[in-house]
Amino acid sequence: MKTALKKLIPFTIGQKLRGLWQRTQSIFLYGSKFYCPFCKNSFRKLLQGGSDLPVLKENQIIGAGLRKNCVCPRCYSTDRDRLLYLYLNQKTNILKEKIRLLHIAPSGSLKALLASNKNIDYHTGIKHHDGFYYSKETQILDITNIHYNNDDFDVIICNHVLEHVIDDRKAMSELFRVLKPGGWAILQVPISKTLKKTFEDNSIVDPKEREKYFGQFDHVRIYGQDYTDRLAEIGFNIEIIDIFSEKFDGIEIEKWALNPEEMIYIEHKPNK
Ligand SMILES: [Zn+2]
Repeated sequence: MKTALKKLIPFTIGQKLRGLWQRTQSIFLYGSKFYCPFCKNSFRKLLQGGSDLPVLKENQIIGAGLRKNCVCPRCYSTDRDRLLYLYLNQKTNILKEKIRLLHIAPSGSLKALLASNKNIDYHTGIKHHDGFYYSKETQILDITNIHYNNDDFDVIICNHVLEHVIDDRKAMSELFRVLKPGGWAILQVPISKTLKKTFEDNSIVDPKEREKYFGQFDHVRIYGQDYTDRLAEIGFNIEIIDIFSEKFDGIEIEKWALNPEEMIYIEHKPNK
């Protein structure tokens, strides 16, 4: 039904209807408890995000379970987008220096922020092109066969994508290949607090089964605490940032509705 509706409603009309709905619902939620740095509005309540599937609870998956105040009702930024905003804004020069950036499967709020910055040579793409949520200009990009040169980008952002990719090691090696030596990437994934070893089974292909075992109809694994080992095997040096131990100026975790358990994984490609 949803797919049929998307086909019936032209992209531009769909976008306008969505914008109208966003503005209408956000009016009823304005307040002072929460703040969204992307649209710079404050709200008494944010929209719910994630789901409460048993598998997500059993494996204590960070970044995937039900979060009550998660999604901004005005611009739809999520807790994970706001976390990256905080990091990019305060701990990097990405918004001030000239850089070449690849943003894979971008979320709307982060894409709007980065694509509009004149210093950033912004490239974006997604494998499963969805005309309703992504502009028609968004190119098709296969993360396991990236159509860019070696050592091409200063920065790559690929947020919550690898858990959808069967051959994630090939994807990681492609990300490593197109990153410049000395460049860095942010490759966030939902990750289990309790699983030591990543759980995957490529014989599970039915969407209902994937939802049951992996926590979402199109996920192909649950990453465990060995996630960073896979990245290190490819050649990345991993830096893990904890928002409690790292100093961020003027930020209240509750006000920004951040997920205090979500670490930021920065993957550095060593200089040659
Ligand atoms: Zn917002």
